[in-house]
Formats: sequence, C-alpha cells, structure tokens
Amino acid sequence: MRPSALTIWATGFGTPELAAASGLRTDELGRLLTDETLTSVDDDRIVAAGDAAAPSGLPLRMCGQIAAPLAAQAVDTVLSRIAGTEPPVLDVALVGSCVSLGRRAGLRQFARKDDSALNFCFGGRLGAAYKELTCKLGVAKIRREARKPGSLLWAKGGPRPVSA
Ligand SMILES: Cc1cc2nc3c(=O)[nH]c(=O)nc-3n(C[C@H](O)[C@H](O)[C@H](O)COP(=O)(O)OP(=O)(O)OC[C@H]3O[C@@H](n4cnc5c(N)ncnc54)[C@H](O)[C@@H]3O)c2cc1C
Repeated sequence: MRPSALTIWATGFGTPELAAASGLRTDELGRLLTDETLTSVDDDRIVAAGDAAAPSGLPLRMCGQIAAPLAAQAVDTVLSRIAGTEPPVLDVALVGSCVSLGRRAGLRQFARKDDSALNFCFGGRLGAAYKELTCKLGVAKIRREARKPGSLLWAKGGPRPVSA
C-alpha cells in the first residue's frame, strides 16, 4: 500500500442500457426505479437486482456484498408474486468494504449498517488476505446456493427509512 494524505478513486461503475432503453423509469445512471420489493415502479411484472436497481430512488452501493442479497430478494419477490403473497421488502446491511491493491496489499474498512465508515480498518498483507478470503467466500456462496437454493445468508439491517 502506498501512503497518501488523500486518495482519489477515479474509476467508475456503470449499468447496462437495457433498463433505460425499455422506456421504464430509471435514475440518472440508468438503474431501474423500483419500490423496496425491487419491483419496477411502472410495471409489476419487472423486477431488478444488483447494480441495475435503484430501490425507492435510493440505490445501495454497487458491490458484490449488495448484489448477492438483492438477487436473492428479487427471486423472493418473483416467487411471492407467483404464489399471490406479499413480497418481502429490502432488508440488507452493509458491513464495510475491501480494496485490493495488488497481491500483497489491501484495505479492509469496517462500517456501520448504513455504510458510514467506522474508525476501524486494517491494511497491508492482512488487508490483502481478507480481500482474498471475501472473493473465495463469494464463489463458495454461489456454489452452495446452486446446490441448495434459498441457503444464502446476508447481514440484515431492517427495512430502510424511505418514504412510501
Ligand atoms: C473494476 C471493478 C472492480 C470492482 N471491484 C469490486 C470489489 O472489489 N468488491 C465488490 O464488492 N464489488 C466490486 N465491483 C462491483 C461489482 O462487480 C458489482 O457491484 C457486481 O458485480 C454487481 O453484480 P450484478 O449481478 O448486479 O451485475 P454484473 O455482475 O455486472 O452482472 C450483470 C450481467 O448481465 C449481463 N447483461 C447486461 N446486459 C444484458 C442484456 N441486455 N442481456 C443479457 N445479459 C446482459 C452482463 O454481461 C453481466 O454478465 C467492481 C466493479 C468493477 C467494474
């Protein structure tokens, strides 16, 4: 890791043009505007997940930590609609973030459930090892979910404080 007084992250994440091209309402980045069940605000047959979703116009951070639970919640919404039951509302908490800085250095920043940073992080080789572990765990979770659908566990923070 290189010491610096200020680090500016200059890369950017994007979303496919599909939602914006569909005519359904999206946010300024092209993420589909949904309610807290991840259902399009314009068409209840359309459900979004991961980076492509902007629930209540308050999208969560684009990251794997969020994409997986949102995928599971999107599936639950679809299954609820098929069953004619009320879909669950979004319930996911962020617990921090990892940055890989090559094979030998990384950073693990811990955060509150609302994604605000806690005054606790570690870096260096330990940060790199932690990042590597999260990648391996991510793949393991996908494999387990394929073997046993519905087994995915994630940190929950309760319903979000959004206006209806
Ligand atoms: C450079 C970079 C580094 C990142 N590093 C991290 C990190 O360290 N940690 C972290 O948590 N997150 C990281 N992210 C973010 C993370 O990759 C995303 O948040 C996550 O992959 C989102 O998952 P998703 O399933 O929503 O979308 P994606 O993983 O992007 O999957 C969407 C899929 O849909 C396909 N698709 C798009 N349009 C269509 C279409 N019209 N028809 C059919 N298929 C289509 C795409 O090809 C893609 O396979 C990083 C992203 C980038 C770009």
